[in-house]
Amino acid sequence: MPAAKDIKITKITKSKINDLDWNNLPFGKYFTDYMLEADYANGEWVSVAIKPYQPLTLDPALTALHYGQSIFEGIKAYNNVDGETYIFRPHENLIRFNKSADRMCMPEVPEWLFIDGMRQLIELEKQWIPNKENHALYVRPFMFSTDALLGVRPSLTYKFMILLSPTGPYFAAPMKIFVEEKYTRAAPGGVGFSKNAGNYGGSLRAATEAQKMGYDQVLWTDAHEHKWLQEVGMMNVFFLIDNKAITPSLEEGTILKGVTRDSVITVLNDLGISVEERPINIDELVQAYESGRLQEVFGTGTAATIALIQELFYNGKQMLFDVQQCEIANKVKNILNEVRYGLLPDTHNWLVKV
Ligand SMILES: *Cc1c(COP(=O)(O)O)cnc(C)c1O
Repeated sequence: MPAAKDIKITKITKSKINDLDWNNLPFGKYFTDYMLEADYANGEWVSVAIKPYQPLTLDPALTALHYGQSIFEGIKAYNNVDGETYIFRPHENLIRFNKSADRMCMPEVPEWLFIDGMRQLIELEKQWIPNKENHALYVRPFMFSTDALLGVRPSLTYKFMILLSPTGPYFAAPMKIFVEEKYTRAAPGGVGFSKNAGNYGGSLRAATEAQKMGYDQVLWTDAHEHKWLQEVGMMNVFFLIDNKAITPSLEEGTILKGVTRDSVITVLNDLGISVEERPINIDELVQAYESGRLQEVFGTGTAATIALIQELFYNGKQMLFDVQQCEIANKVKNILNEVRYGLLPDTHNWLVKV
C-alpha cells in the first residue's frame, strides 16, 4: 500500500504569501501555494502528488461537468496557543466523504490519501494558518469523475484533490432566516445526506429568493408537507426550548450528518443540557415562540462553527431573538474554540496533530 511519505512534492518557485491581506480573508477566496492531486484508474489511486496550485486541464466531455459525480468536504486546521497545528476531527469527514462517494457510485478514498495527504499538505503550508480569533485554515478535499463520455453511467476514472484556504469568519453577523415552504432541498431516498455538488446548485434558487427579501438563508422543511424542519442553509439547526436542545434527527437521510452538529451535541451533554434528536415541525416551534419558551435558534457547521439566528420569518410573521441573550449557543461556541486553541483539554480526542 502506498504511504503518504511517498507523496511527491513539486516545489514552487515563489510563494504568494506576501500578497495576502491578513486583515481581509473572506471565506474560501484565497488559496495557498500548493494543492494535492491524485488520480483513480483501474481500481487504484495513482499519481499522488503535491504540486504548485494551478488550473486544471480537463476534457470538455468530462462526466462530472455533465452529470454531477462530484463530492467534497470541509475541515479546519488551527494553530493552538503553543503554536502547534491541529486538524479538527478529520476522520469524521473521511467517513462522511466515503458515504457520499458510495451514494454517488464513486470509489472510496483511503485514509493514507485523505488524512496523511492532508497532514503532509498542511505541514508544508503552516505559515498560511491565520493566528487570529475566528480564523483558520479551511481544508477542502473533493473528488470528481473524469471519464470523457456523454453516456450516463458511473465513471471509471476520478480525480481527488485537496485545497487549503486561509479564512476569516463565515457569517460574522447574526442571521435572518426565511422558513422555506416552496422549494425542497432533499427527499427520503435522495442524496440529502451526501455532500455532493448538486445539492448546493439545487439550493441556490431558494437562497437567492430569500436574499431578495432581505434574508441571509432559508430554513429548509421536508419535501412532503413543508412542515418538518431540516437544516438552515448549509448548516444543521438547533432549537433551545425550555432549556432543552432539539435538533432534527438523521434517520430519513435528508439531513447532512454534521461534524459540528455532533460536537455541539457532545458539548451540550457535557454541560448537562439534554439534547433531543427527533423530528420537529414548524407548528411546535411557533407555539414555543408564542409561549415564550423558544430561547435560542442557531446553525452549526465547520465554516461558521455556530451561527446565531436573530430572526425566523414564517407565514407572514417574524419570530425575533435577542442574540445577546443566546447564552447557550455562545457558551458552546466558546468551548469549541477553546478546545481548538488548546485553552481547554481535548477530552474527546477531537484534535489530530499535523
Ligand atoms: C457541510 C454541511 C453541514 C455542516 O457539516 P459540518 O460537518 O458540521 O461542517 C450541514 N449541512 C449541509 C447541507 C452541509 O453541506
